[in-house]
Amino acid sequence: MWIKAGSLLAVDPEAIVKCPECGEADLEVFDTKAGEDHIERHMRCPKCGAYNALYKNKNIAE
Ligand SMILES: [Zn+2]
Repeated sequence: MWIKAGSLLAVDPEAIVKCPECGEADLEVFDTKAGEDHIERHMRCPKCGAYNALYKNKNIAE
């Protein structure tokens, strides 16, 4: 479930979250800047290549 993975990683980018697609590898997480006060948090599986991202206001602690 990407929704669950995303909600965990939105709070804690260091969280260890298994890939929602293959369930075999832990997601890699990295952030990129998106405008003045937002970031995009990218989540990628090193095994199967599944990918998702979320958009987040970096000034609001969730
Ligand atoms: Zn995977």
